[in-house]
Amino acid sequence: MHRFYALSSYTRQHFGQRVQKIPLDAGFSCPNRDGTLSRSGCLFCNPKGSGSGFGDQGMSIPEQWQFWRDIHTKKNNLSLFTAYLQSYSNTHGPLSKLADVLLELEGLPGLTTLSLGTRPDCLDEEKLDLLAAQRDELGLTEITLELGLQSACDETLAHINRGHDAQAFADATQSAAKRGLNVVAHVIAGLPTEYGREGQTELLATIDFINKLPVHGIKFHNLFVCKGTALAKLHEDGHYTPLTQLEYLNQLSNALMHLNPTTIVHRLNGNPGQGELIAPQWAANMRGLHNAVRSHFNANDVWQGKLNGAESGPPDWFSPDFQGEKT
Ligand code: SF4
Repeated sequence: MHRFYALSSYTRQHFGQRVQKIPLDAGFSCPNRDGTLSRSGCLFCNPKGSGSGFGDQGMSIPEQWQFWRDIHTKKNNLSLFTAYLQSYSNTHGPLSKLADVLLELEGLPGLTTLSLGTRPDCLDEEKLDLLAAQRDELGLTEITLELGLQSACDETLAHINRGHDAQAFADATQSAAKRGLNVVAHVIAGLPTEYGREGQTELLATIDFINKLPVHGIKFHNLFVCKGTALAKLHEDGHYTPLTQLEYLNQLSNALMHLNPTTIVHRLNGNPGQGELIAPQWAANMRGLHNAVRSHFNANDVWQGKLNGAESGPPDWFSPDFQGEKT
């Protein structure tokens, strides 16, 4: 039984096959790191950022593309790819920087879709217009903006030094959707607050907030403590305790049951980089966590939208073979 609308199902329905993401490092920074907003970053952020680091090594975008594409074509015989601008905030800085990076994507073999990780406060009307225009110029099927919301609670966002509020996410999402750009919301369970830690109530409030917006997809993350972060200091001083695996599974299950059943689920957990995890140790065991999620969903008969419009059972469109209207 398909218990949620997985990205793999959506991709099979729309492209007939897997579309492999290729991570690209285009040398962007983040306003919460480069001094525009702050230099300390979000409380949980590893200063090395996510991504391959190939940009720092001087590899151009076409060179990075070729490196990863060769691996995927040889190993898995794949032919469709997503250019995934992953590291830091990939719309931060002047419009010309974004335009230059988009130009570099032109003609990359197998390029089908584009995905950009960024912050809602790094998107203005001009940048969104440019992205919408480039979708047609580059012949892309779709462009997705991966926007960090993390929590819909402004007090939590201030506490984690996020540097924007929930309304900034809502505004950016509305503006992107008007132009046919997809938005994937990043959400984190177990964020630290002034009074301790966000719980089920706050996570459900975040899901409610997302349900009211034209959000195309969601990535759930369990918060883990990484080396070199402000959160690591809080944890060391005994002021932050991460969720247990069972607490996370319970929160995730409830969040999923409240989520709009047409929202595409891109991830159900975070994935620490090699050597960066301090706690909790269960966050490092991906296979164990995936098995635990599956068992927990089965044992508790969890499915997406069970408490939000899909009460009678998992909808047909959760299946990769589904073709038709999602009603
Ligand atoms: S917005 Fe992203 S890259 Fe910037 S500090 Fe926060 S987590 Fe790190």
